[in-house]
Amino acid sequence: MYDIIIVGAGPAGLTAAIYARRAGRSVLLIEKETFGGQIVLSPHVENYPFAKPMSGTELSDILVEQVMNLGAEVEVDTVTAVHENPDRTFTLKTEYGEHTARSIIIATGLKHRRMGIENEEKFIGRGISFCAVCDGAFFKDKTVAVVGGGNTAVQDAVYLSKLAKKVYLVHRRDEFRAEKHVVAGLNSCENIELVLNSVPKAVRGENALGEFIVENKLTGETRVLEADGVFVAIGQEPNNSAFASLVDLDESGFIAADESCRTKNPAVFVAGDCRTKAVRQLVTAGADGGVAAIAACEYLDREDALAV
Ligand SMILES: Cc1cc2nc3c(=O)[nH]c(=O)nc-3n(C[C@H](O)[C@H](O)[C@H](O)COP(=O)(O)OP(=O)(O)OC[C@H]3O[C@@H](n4cnc5c(N)ncnc54)[C@H](O)[C@@H]3O)c2cc1C
Repeated sequence: MYDIIIVGAGPAGLTAAIYARRAGRSVLLIEKETFGGQIVLSPHVENYPFAKPMSGTELSDILVEQVMNLGAEVEVDTVTAVHENPDRTFTLKTEYGEHTARSIIIATGLKHRRMGIENEEKFIGRGISFCAVCDGAFFKDKTVAVVGGGNTAVQDAVYLSKLAKKVYLVHRRDEFRAEKHVVAGLNSCENIELVLNSVPKAVRGENALGEFIVENKLTGETRVLEADGVFVAIGQEPNNSAFASLVDLDESGFIAADESCRTKNPAVFVAGDCRTKAVRQLVTAGADGGVAAIAACEYLDREDALAV
């Protein structure tokens, strides 16, 4: 029986493990794919405070080493379901077995929806980005394209227009899904060109991305946009279905929690990109991890005091 099981070893889960171990709690960290989470896809991170610019893999290695040195147990497995027991403990079912814990921190992050086009995986982190705030500065005075028609896509285009020389906003329809006041923001950006009724087909380039090929859905014509970067904003997919019986999910599948990362279940906490929030970045994931672990330790302290 562990005091805390943390599901997901991205920046949020790893930071939660640091705080929980330093508070003397037993911790099992379960990760299904990559220790470090999404950030390992990034070759260059510049906005993490206290660290010089480095790759996401280097940054994760430092964090994983810190967690291991503090004595957290780790396991590579996927949590598939959680059962709350009558004695207020939890059984977490995984692909290969099960574990029990007195409390849970969910830190399962998210996946960005892909365009599903030729060469996409090859250029992720090398021209294709899912985050204008993270990577926009790398495209100062260059040409970029943004894909999508919702609030994020339009806001990204406006944000990037302040940095880039030119921005193509590629959308499959002729009207944006974004709110009216957000779309109105496009009016003051002379360097944004709308490429409507168009869908992505391929990205090409020798060492760096250089061309973004799109197809007009109405005419079938192909257009080659000379672009140094493509920012994809066509949706995010959280991984929270295994926890749906324990917590409240919002309409997009993110977990609802209060400022202390507490869910509606007093023994279940949530940290990082998988929860309902406005800013999904390394610093906010790490901050959530610390806050969730402190809240979980307070919960366990209260339970221990009641048991005496
Ligand atoms: C290409 C790229 C570049 C980025 N660049 C920057 C940047 O420069 N600066 C910045 O601040 N942010 C950047 N970000 C965003 C940043 O990486 C995320 O905000 C951050 O990783 C979120 O951390 P997290 O721990 O909440 O989630 P994640 O990093 O998504 O980690 C969640 C982990 O949980 C695991 N998991 C999910 N479900 C289960 C399950 N059922 N069982 C077990 N494990 C599970 C996943 O495999 C994953 O490893 C970038 C993101 C990407 C994709």
